[in-house]
Amino acid sequence: MRRNYQSIPRYVPHEVTGFALNQNESQFELPERLKQEIRNVSLEGLNSYPVSELIALKKSYATYAGVKPNQLMVGSGSDELLAILSQAILDAEDQVIAPAPDFSMYGIYTQIARANFVQPQTEGLSFESLMKTIKEHEPKLVLLSNPNNPTGKMWTKEEIETIAAHVPFLVVDEAYIDFTMQDSFVTELGYHPNVIILRTLSKAFGLANLRIGFMIADAKVIEQIDRFRSPFNVSGLSAAVATVVLNDSDYIKESVRFHNEQRDKLETLLQPIGEMIPSRANFLYIKTDESHVWAERFLDHGIHIRAFSDGIRVSAGTDEAYTHIQNMLNEVNSVENS
Ligand code: PMP
Repeated sequence: MRRNYQSIPRYVPHEVTGFALNQNESQFELPERLKQEIRNVSLEGLNSYPVSELIALKKSYATYAGVKPNQLMVGSGSDELLAILSQAILDAEDQVIAPAPDFSMYGIYTQIARANFVQPQTEGLSFESLMKTIKEHEPKLVLLSNPNNPTGKMWTKEEIETIAAHVPFLVVDEAYIDFTMQDSFVTELGYHPNVIILRTLSKAFGLANLRIGFMIADAKVIEQIDRFRSPFNVSGLSAAVATVVLNDSDYIKESVRFHNEQRDKLETLLQPIGEMIPSRANFLYIKTDESHVWAERFLDHGIHIRAFSDGIRVSAGTDEAYTHIQNMLNEVNSVENS
């Protein structure tokens, strides 16, 4: 094994029962019309490697994203694309910077690529603090999620442009941008060829099981990074199902509307727990020093959430899940008042 391999954490998925509000998955059920169309996806050609399905998928996603198909690369989730781009861009000992907190996999892929991962020590979501860290360490690559995971905070286009002007490569991970598409950086890509956007069908599109993510960048950058992709990295069946869903332009609007409404309800529901950061994604971050106590309380009522050192992250869920959360809050309230 590689030296220090133990410092790379293993990701072990767990089967959960109850309500999973811990992974920001979609809670909007796929409409019957789409389920019906998906059942008609052809099972001929399972013996051959996928080619035409991927061409069709790129065409559909290019239309959705307002880019050209040659500006896209498809991956087995945006996770795989993070792995590929870090291998493509980074040499050993290069510096990589991300805000703090941000998506935990950034540090892991950096480490796998033998580069050094740095985050601001204090005020890790302040633009000033991030820029100070960038000027100090002169990284080759900056990675940031927008909206930010886990808080839902947005970086402005001006902030992203300033960061892009100071580094060779900037990855803007737009895993949750479908919930607030007018804030996407995709419209600015033409002015900033060193910016790479990541997207996924795992969140607003409700297709986490298919494992489909997209890289959007300048066609020349795609051509360079594409050399680091394994030949047939995405299943043709997944691509064909995804294409059916993408071609129904009403579905994404319905899903976004549902999640934004459910997030607003959740905001009202969770007020008693603590201060909330305004979120445009399908989750909320609530600041509390008792994050693990709260996670246990939710779990006692069948709700899985994520506990962080100074807060909890709860994904937007269904009204049914909210009834359980309300029961939990009533219980806590009555114990505190007794
Ligand atoms: N980026 C961010 C910010 C995420 O939150 C996630 C999933 N939690 C991913 C990337 C990876 O998503 P996927 O591999 O399913 O596309």
